[in-house]
Amino acid sequence: MAVYPQGEFRPVRRYAPGGALHRESSGQRRVVLHTAVSNEPSLFPSMSVPGTATSHFYVDRGGRVEQYIDTDIRSTANLEGNHDCITVESWDGAGVLWNPDPPSPDPVPRWSDNQLAGLIDLVAWLCTTHQIPAVRLRSSRGGTKGIGWHRMGINGNFPASGIFAGRVPDGELWSEARGKGCPGDARIRQVGRSVIPGVVSELSGPPVPAGRPGSALPLVSLANVEQQAQAMRVLPGVKLIQKALNKELGLSLRVNGLFDPPTKDAYARWQRRLGFAGDDADGVPGSLTLTRLGQGRFRVAAD
Ligand SMILES: [Zn+2]
Repeated sequence: MAVYPQGEFRPVRRYAPGGALHRESSGQRRVVLHTAVSNEPSLFPSMSVPGTATSHFYVDRGGRVEQYIDTDIRSTANLEGNHDCITVESWDGAGVLWNPDPPSPDPVPRWSDNQLAGLIDLVAWLCTTHQIPAVRLRSSRGGTKGIGWHRMGINGNFPASGIFAGRVPDGELWSEARGKGCPGDARIRQVGRSVIPGVVSELSGPPVPAGRPGSALPLVSLANVEQQAQAMRVLPGVKLIQKALNKELGLSLRVNGLFDPPTKDAYARWQRRLGFAGDDADGVPGSLTLTRLGQGRFRVAAD
């Protein structure tokens, strides 16, 4: 039995014990994110209708989470992936924020900050509960583990590679609706930029306080910077940090956007200057030291 403690559990009868579609999963390995094409506060009424594909979860407009199926039981929102995919639908304001049949090929809005917060808490719990690594799936191929989105398993006229691609030839088919772009480009972009870094950050320590609101200063994402300190990818936030370290410590670090060893050493010096020692001065930014470094320069975003 796996029920998300911070959600509202509204079991759909046919997936509950004794129901016609109550089938155990062989072991959940993947989290798959969807957009619901819905303005409804809940999907419970529609998903309760027999014959309707049903997801495990729904994240509503305000980030509140409803659960319809125990995650040890298979959902029916992912076709060939149902055996080991946990499926998460999300409110998108269809008919209000956007028209389901407009001229724009991709009208789905991005997840709001409240929805992101709800998603991140939920996905972090799923990763812990089902031992799923907080990494991005590369395709709908079976036997993989991680966090992905519906389009990965859909055929259509999508880019041949990259995050907006559709199903690869040897991947599982996750929908028969050819060309269905679920969950939309904006949300697909947010999985790598916000959801996964947020989950990584949540799984690695206590929640980080947000930056001071109302300021016009640029934002630096703590989660991204933390990841970078270990993964060496270029992000603009690191350039702001390098400039600030040069100023505060009188250094001449190369402002290259990479959290490279000299930057990490300089950051450790900054941490020691603020009174941290030992493991707390390891050169990996934390909320307090990054916020102090940003004073008058940048704000720190928790996601
Ligand atoms: Zn979908």
